[in-house]
Amino acid sequence: MRMTNLFFTTLRETPADAEVISHQLMVRAGYIRKLTSGIYTYLPLMWRVIRKISDIIREEMDRKGAQEILMPILQPEELWQESGRWDAYGKELMRLEDRHGRKGALGPTHEEIITALARDEIRSYRQLPVNLYQIQDKFRDEIRPRFGLLRGREFLMKDAYSFDADEAGLEASYQKMIEAYTNIFNRCGLETRMVRSDTGAIGGSASHEFMVLTRTASGENDVLYCDSCSYAANSNRAESCLPFAQVDSGFLEVKESDTPGVKTIEELADFFKIEPSAICKTLVYIVDNKPVMALIRGDRAVEEIKLKNALGANDIRIANNAEIEELTQKSGFDTQAGFIGPAGINVRVVGDESIRDLKNFVIGINKTDKHLTGANWGKELRLPEKIADIRLAFAGDFCPECGGKFEITRGIEVGNIFKLGIRYSEKMQATFTDEDGQEKPFIMGCYGIGITRTAAAAIERYHDKDGIQWPMSIAPYHVIVIPVNVKDEMQMMTAEKIYKELCEKNIETVIDDRDERPGVKFKDADLIGFPIRITAGKTLSEGMVEIKIRSTGEMFKVPVQEAVAKAVELVNSNHYTRMNF
Ligand code: ATP
Ligand code: MG
Repeated sequence: MRMTNLFFTTLRETPADAEVISHQLMVRAGYIRKLTSGIYTYLPLMWRVIRKISDIIREEMDRKGAQEILMPILQPEELWQESGRWDAYGKELMRLEDRHGRKGALGPTHEEIITALARDEIRSYRQLPVNLYQIQDKFRDEIRPRFGLLRGREFLMKDAYSFDADEAGLEASYQKMIEAYTNIFNRCGLETRMVRSDTGAIGGSASHEFMVLTRTASGENDVLYCDSCSYAANSNRAESCLPFAQVDSGFLEVKESDTPGVKTIEELADFFKIEPSAICKTLVYIVDNKPVMALIRGDRAVEEIKLKNALGANDIRIANNAEIEELTQKSGFDTQAGFIGPAGINVRVVGDESIRDLKNFVIGINKTDKHLTGANWGKELRLPEKIADIRLAFAGDFCPECGGKFEITRGIEVGNIFKLGIRYSEKMQATFTDEDGQEKPFIMGCYGIGITRTAAAAIERYHDKDGIQWPMSIAPYHVIVIPVNVKDEMQMMTAEKIYKELCEKNIETVIDDRDERPGVKFKDADLIGFPIRITAGKTLSEGMVEIKIRSTGEMFKVPVQEAVAKAVELVNSNHYTRMNF
């Protein structure tokens, strides 16, 4: 490719709406252009990266016996009604209506479509196992599209679905996908960690996420991992053992104490000179349109997804003050938010495990400007019947499996795999005839990779102040050849010759034949992130060209006639590609 023909423009300025580095660099280096919120055009450089990631995915999926198909983007309402997700999926599902008034949605994921396909096509256990995948645009009307390709509304995903006759078959299919995913991300130059995760809107019995660990804000997930065993989990899922019990409150007798205007846990702790762990915190959530009270030790936070799962609910949000006050009024109190508690309120209450052992603690009693001090669970103040682990795990908590200590890091979820079991096949009556002649629902699994998010995660992981440092395997091109001055015949001739020979050897090469200042060319090469740069400039007088390795910054001279062989060696060498490929 000649730079004069390459469809791209680089920008010196960072776009105002780009908060994270991958978004900034993709826009500045001419990889993507925004159409509207969360929706982007992939320009030629980006599309090459996407195709490379896709090709790696195809090879590794095919190697595990999966077969590629392509399903429609537009999905009819009926199938979503069958699975029960038309109502449950919520606003992320982009719904629309055709000219006949038939409702449908743009596919955010394809469980319904593939289950209907399997129901029609697979009759017998002899046709199992099957694993079908596709690479396709997905649409999710995300509440906060942001961070460029990390969280778009329209994005490219690989989604695969396995069908097995029994649980053992699913286990084998699941393991194969773990192997495929490990290979895929390794080959993309990305070190990932597999963590346990919440099954979310997809459902099923177990799921794991593949996380690229980052230290930057772009890692939207907190990942907790044990310092002594292999336990690792998304914070929306991580179980933990509390590192210490409540710190003694010092209140020996139970009484109503005045707490004028003292509402928050911090204010209460300050006011009474006690630790937050001596306070029982009361929170109100609106869960599937009904209020629910959640109680938790004052030093801990509720993880909404864990609470939602504990209640088997679809939808959850924190209540506002008006809703809290309305709830207390319904039970005959007139309490400001900040003084509420479970006693006397007619509402479903869930307690976190952390409240069970509280002693002589402080809690709201639905009287404005008062709290109960020295409280204990008993007849007056009942420990909720439902106690569950609904707390956010913290670094320093103990690992539930080995008692080691949790550490925390940020991660970008690039892949997610689920054991669906019969979640869809049962509801949609997708069955096969088993060996024993019985009709049984398929045992399913599903496996996603965010392809555009993976590209963005690679940039988050590999960049410096000058631009992108692509791993060789997914770089849009391997080499850029730069004649410093296109008017210098010797430089131009040498560059052209190297360029031609590299192309003949199937090295993906760009020649920067623009009549630009050297500074501009070098800046653009660094920004776009070509892994190898060959410069034909002043050193030609010594019969040498200069080679620069983008990822390490290393620079050296080689004789002109050895330049091609050296570049080929570098492209193929593991050292400079960071990972095997
Ligand atoms: P998240 O929790 O980040 O919203 P998810 O768990 O809903 O994602 P899955 O249904 O597991 O996503 O989708 C499979 C993969 O698709 C994810 O692992 C991620 O890599 C990618 N993905 C999901 N949502 C988006 C998005 N809005 N933009 C880009 N990629 C996405
Ligand atoms: Mg996910």
